[in-house]
Amino acid sequence: MKKITIAIDGFSSCGKSTMAKDLAREIGYIYIDSGAMYRAVTLYSIENGIFKGNEIDTERLQKEIGNIHISFQLNPSTGRPDTYLNGVNVENKIRSMEVSSRVSPIATLGFVREAMVAQQQVMGNSKGIVMDGRDIGTTVFPDAELKIFVTATPEIRAQRRYDELKAKGQEASFDEILENVKQRDYIDQNREVSPLRKADDALLLDNTTMTISQQKEWLQKQFDKTIKG
Ligand code: C5P
Repeated sequence: MKKITIAIDGFSSCGKSTMAKDLAREIGYIYIDSGAMYRAVTLYSIENGIFKGNEIDTERLQKEIGNIHISFQLNPSTGRPDTYLNGVNVENKIRSMEVSSRVSPIATLGFVREAMVAQQQVMGNSKGIVMDGRDIGTTVFPDAELKIFVTATPEIRAQRRYDELKAKGQEASFDEILENVKQRDYIDQNREVSPLRKADDALLLDNTTMTISQQKEWLQKQFDKTIKG
């Protein structure tokens, strides 16, 4: 059967990665979390003193961006890919609140986006890929055969992120998370390079009142339709 490219974009914490991972596993495609790549660049910047308070030393980051190597390796115990930064597993570290609150400014930088988009396009060369993010259907794979744009209210997204952190035993404050979700929405939609927007040919999915299994079923249906197309 011919393989296609699937782009899943949308607001932060609206379940894109859950649905993308599940679909990829179901249909035997590779899953790539493009947000994890921006998070890894952010972690690198935190750990290497590129942040001076809230300021980013863009000159240094630009010099070092070529030394930031991001890859994914399947974790046999979770059945999902873990993110590696220069060979080190950073999957847990990149999900911290500190990284979440610093990632969107990093993702506004044109040279960071250029470097990430180039890596993402190489990963998708041979199709058979599900990639989620903010600009996959608009910039990374504008010719993707199936594009989904996911949204939900900020409150429900904050609640889901809160539950996720709590389940992992991490400290979490609902108000802080809600603030972070709203702030990232604003920065993502208003940045100059590849702002978050729905591609004209993307299907809109508002999952505010949907369960994970309803969403899964909906997505599988869209995939089947596209393949038969
Ligand atoms: O998807 P996730 O919330 O992990 O992404 C973290 C951040 O990375 C987003 O808030 C956004 O600022 C940025 N991002 C992006 N383009 C992508 C994926 C993520 O700008 N394709």
